[in-house]
Amino acid sequence: MGQEDTSTDSASQSLCYLSRYFRERPVTGPDGHSYTSNEPRPTATHPGLPVNVRVLERIDQTVAEVVAYTREVNPQAEPFSDDSVNVYRWCVENTVHAPEAQQLRREVLEYRHSLEHAVAAGETDVIRPHRCPECRTFGLMWDGHTRQIRCTNRECVDDNGLGTVVDFARLAQEHVAGKRKLRQVSAT
Ligand SMILES: [Zn+2]
Repeated sequence: MGQEDTSTDSASQSLCYLSRYFRERPVTGPDGHSYTSNEPRPTATHPGLPVNVRVLERIDQTVAEVVAYTREVNPQAEPFSDDSVNVYRWCVENTVHAPEAQQLRREVLEYRHSLEHAVAAGETDVIRPHRCPECRTFGLMWDGHTRQIRCTNRECVDDNGLGTVVDFARLAQEHVAGKRKLRQVSAT
């Protein structure tokens, strides 16, 4: 049970961190500079609000996704009326007796969120410790330009010769599956 707790805590912590990180900062422009500077304001699609609105949307989406999963797995789940940072705890409490496969989905969901929240808050180092699912090297890194996870191993390419791009869902899937295998090995 310790392992599940780690995953839940890390997803909760990063969501908490993400919301605090942005709430504590003044509204900034699309380039990350404060609008209080003397520089002329850059033209933004939604002037004055961009970053914080995106983060609040992300938090809403996260909560909606976790709530949808919980209700699907357990239609009798207690109502969720708590603060968004408690959504993972509520989810675990209401799905802890679900079948193994459903709990695996929850672990993957939580782990994916912890990576996504961390990257959204600029903690892109969270990607590197994962092996590339294609070539098994530690060549993965966050490409801030395209906002994708890329493998930097030049030999790791698809049939068209394009470098491997991995999505968060696959990375989380691989991580949780690998962790489960380790747990089975150590249990035998
Ligand atoms: Zn690779």
